Amino acid sequence: MIGENIENILSQLPRDVRLVAVSKFHPFESVLEAYSAGQRLFGESRPQELCAKAVQLPQDIEWHFIGHLQTNKLKSVLPYVSMVESVDSEHLLSAIDDWGNANGRVVPVLLEMHVALEETKQGFMEEEILDILFRAVAGSFSHIRFCGLMGMATNTDDEETIDADFARIADFKDYLTDLFPELEDFRELSIGMSGDYKIALRHGSTIVRIGTSIFGERDYSKTE
Ligand SMILES: *Cc1c(COP(=O)(O)O)cnc(C)c1O
Repeated sequence: MIGENIENILSQLPRDVRLVAVSKFHPFESVLEAYSAGQRLFGESRPQELCAKAVQLPQDIEWHFIGHLQTNKLKSVLPYVSMVESVDSEHLLSAIDDWGNANGRVVPVLLEMHVALEETKQGFMEEEILDILFRAVAGSFSHIRFCGLMGMATNTDDEETIDADFARIADFKDYLTDLFPELEDFRELSIGMSGDYKIALRHGSTIVRIGTSIFGERDYSKTE
């Protein structure tokens, strides 16, 4: 079932688009089922859950952190992840940079851009992202690799709203790529979840983050 779901989604993705299987709130067995189907890239949004899975599950799994990360949880999460997709504050960015400096690592990140209509969603506004990247090319954040943007569309059934949200983030990403040619790794556009990845693909996703369509509904009463 999980294997078939993955196969079905992969058949719809252009070859250069990466699938992050979002396994948060799902048990180890579900991750292993996806692993058996060949999936190696997974996303988690809670530090403790990510660490537990990363330690106990096969070591060739690549983990992306996709949730809100508090700076006091950094130390436990960063050793296990190949990318933090959800950098949503300057404070967090500086803390990751400091950790990279102290640990001799350059940490790949995506900047989360706020495009949704909901106030509650996290992320930077356009001018904040510009400001960070101007400082990056001037030499700040030497232990951060800026790999692109991540975003979530408004939670709605209205396709036009979702389309407009994704257009805004995709256009801004293109603008940044032109403006900062020296940021050679700045090419990822992580947009698209179970309900909206088909729309996101039309706007040039390079990463889609899909949970429910692979693993089914999450059981929030279980806290592993
Ligand atoms: C949970 C989550 C997803 C996956 O959502 P689904 O609707 O289950 O596909 C994707 N991105 C982020 C940031 C998430 O927190």
